[in-house]
Amino acid sequence: MESTRTHCPYCALQCGMRLSPGAARPVEGDAEFPVNRGALCIKGFTAAELLRAPDRLTTPLVRDERGDLVPATWDEAIGRIASAIRRTQERHGRDAVGVFGSGALTNEKAYAVGKLARAILRTRSIDYNGRYCMSSAATAATRALGLDRGLPFPVADLGEAGAILLAGSNVAETMPPLVQHLDRVRARGGEIIVVDPRRTATVRAATLHLPACPGTDAVVANGLLHVLVRDGLVDEAYVRDRTEGFEDVRALVAGYWPERVERISGVPQRDLERAAHALARASRAFVLTGRGCEQQSQGVANALAFIDVALALGLVGRPGSGWGCLTGQGNGQGGREHGQKADQLPGYRRIDDPAARAHVARVWGMAPESLPDAGASAYEMLSTMGAPGGVRALLVFGSNVLVSSPDATAVEARLRGLDLLVVSDFFLSETAALAHVVLPSAQFAEEDGTMTNLEGRVIRRRVAVDPPAGVRTDLAIIRAIADAIGEGGRFPSDDPRAVFDELRRASAGGPADYAGITWDRIDRDRGVFWPCPSEDHPGTPRLFESRFPTPSGRARFFAVRHAAPAEEPDAEYPLVLTTGRLLAQYQSGTQTRRIESLVRVAPHPVVEMHPAVARPLGIEGGEEVTVVTRRGGASFVARVTRDVRPDVLFVPFHWGGDRCANLLTSPALDPSSRMPEFKVCAARLEVSTHVPPRGGSATRS
Ligand code: SF4
Repeated sequence: MESTRTHCPYCALQCGMRLSPGAARPVEGDAEFPVNRGALCIKGFTAAELLRAPDRLTTPLVRDERGDLVPATWDEAIGRIASAIRRTQERHGRDAVGVFGSGALTNEKAYAVGKLARAILRTRSIDYNGRYCMSSAATAATRALGLDRGLPFPVADLGEAGAILLAGSNVAETMPPLVQHLDRVRARGGEIIVVDPRRTATVRAATLHLPACPGTDAVVANGLLHVLVRDGLVDEAYVRDRTEGFEDVRALVAGYWPERVERISGVPQRDLERAAHALARASRAFVLTGRGCEQQSQGVANALAFIDVALALGLVGRPGSGWGCLTGQGNGQGGREHGQKADQLPGYRRIDDPAARAHVARVWGMAPESLPDAGASAYEMLSTMGAPGGVRALLVFGSNVLVSSPDATAVEARLRGLDLLVVSDFFLSETAALAHVVLPSAQFAEEDGTMTNLEGRVIRRRVAVDPPAGVRTDLAIIRAIADAIGEGGRFPSDDPRAVFDELRRASAGGPADYAGITWDRIDRDRGVFWPCPSEDHPGTPRLFESRFPTPSGRARFFAVRHAAPAEEPDAEYPLVLTTGRLLAQYQSGTQTRRIESLVRVAPHPVVEMHPAVARPLGIEGGEEVTVVTRRGGASFVARVTRDVRPDVLFVPFHWGGDRCANLLTSPALDPSSRMPEFKVCAARLEVSTHVPPRGGSATRS
């Protein structure tokens, strides 16, 4: 049976795979794709099961007078959406209709979702779930380096290093095929250093663990810098020739001596010193950040502090070295480049830049002044829904906002209060179950398009099987909505290749320039790295080699003073709750909770706790316990383990309903990236199966 060469539907590694739906082994790793070299994780190997899930949506659903979702024709569903949009905008203004996109959408769909909002609906109310994923690292990279591309180098470069520091990333569970590159470092005697409050699978494969308490990441980074300065390990020539602002950092980190860092973060001073020396000793080294240090109300500051470490060591732009952030969602990179973000136009252009507005307006055939201005960030848009001046009708593409947003109880109330909620998805997610209109859309192996992986490599997603009858692609759905509200001329085609060609024109000259990337080139070269301004340009696998795209051409240091998270433990909530991912589940679980072999591995969420926390409460492990925060409570099965710090609870966030970790998380936002603080909030544990009312205050049992 002939196989189709494509990529995994899940994370940003975008492992190459060969798909043969119906064959005995429907998925095999693509050995020629240099990122995964044939390896896949359990999620990738089982991805074809998504294509025959029994509860796949195959017809539009609309809510009837009794409040039930019932099957409808496409004409009925689109007609209802169009008239509700018209009514809402007439009564409440254009911005009362919002659009919520996703880092899982192809580049073509991300571009079309942005264009739907700006050019068709003319609303400034648009953002996407990548705000919850990459926004802190993206903001930090743009400030410090002048450009945000998750990894400014190919993944395979990692294997050449002598030392790698991973801050807040559990790649052994979230991106297992990437570990082969770390193994090459270890095999040559190199150091893998992991900053994490838990002894994760990645920590077990590392050579050094820095067990920092959640919320103290900038303290650890500043402590590393202190040691580098104190011990004369700063690359002074690089700092002089390629950066600016180091003297402020040098002065600031004098106050982060190792004993103090140990007191605040829990990282032993000897290990901090060993980490700093290992990074400085290696002729090639990388500093990588993940969601652990970024999903905080200090997320930008944390990422900047780790970029400072990489700059002080002279790593950024040096061959075989660098700083990077490990993007989470499948198209988390491309998703943030093509206009889904509240403040952005295609090509990673700023919406408040007059030249950027003029360029994109020209491509879209409209006047620059008719483009809306920047809107509110994802959580801010959700939290003002239904309020005066807020969104009253919301169109959601490929996102399960009810499970993935912080303080889920408050978000559910806002979603229920909308005049119109439309969800395009392939399954009836928790968010879709609340919708007035549900649109069944095509999934990964049923549609063509491009994705941009964590390296900035633009790759091809290819059709391996026809979608079920009754299902449409998101591009066809957007075109139908545009048609129904009388703006169909702005979407001349729902062919993804034609949309990509328009995206190329819209991105031309922008920071993320795709002008020279064609589908044929991607097919021929196994992907093309942006920026690629013309068809005879080779693409850019490595950034910053000779200069930084800042006004001075230099990278910028930022002196980061550590600040406490929004909530700290106290007498009522004495523990720190942190959340994260598991190997056998993905994001809000809409896909992976439907795959039997994954459910067998991870059937339900567990709360991890140290014996020192469990023992006084008589918890042995295996029983249901309740985690309570200021937002309410949720029950999980207890796992007692020494792999987590004694002051920390860990809960994975892949489940909805009463087991949703985000019933507990804090909606505190980073002041500039507007990233919610998923990774830190104050919590307590109760040995009771009684779940306190959502949003109410819980009593001790
Ligand atoms: Fe898919 Fe990510 Fe697993 Fe690769 S690591 S197979 S891209 S989920």
